Amino acid sequence: MNEREIRCGRCNKPITNKTEVEYSQEYSEFYCKWDCAVEAFFDRARCVPFDFKDKDVEIKRGKFYWK
Ligand SMILES: [Zn+2]
Repeated sequence: MNEREIRCGRCNKPITNKTEVEYSQEYSEFYCKWDCAVEAFFDRARCVPFDFKDKDVEIKRGKFYWK
């Protein structure tokens, strides 16, 4: 029999019925838990904590504005 094990798209652990399995319809990928899914999506979207050096943004009265 030709078995193809399914593994988490983030941490590569085997997907089992003991985990809260997430499935991305967009990426056709399984994840073993919510945290793995969210971390994978943040990476794919290249989402990082904001750095003022990256963008022309300034703060006025506590709110962000484009320069
Ligand atoms: Zn995982």
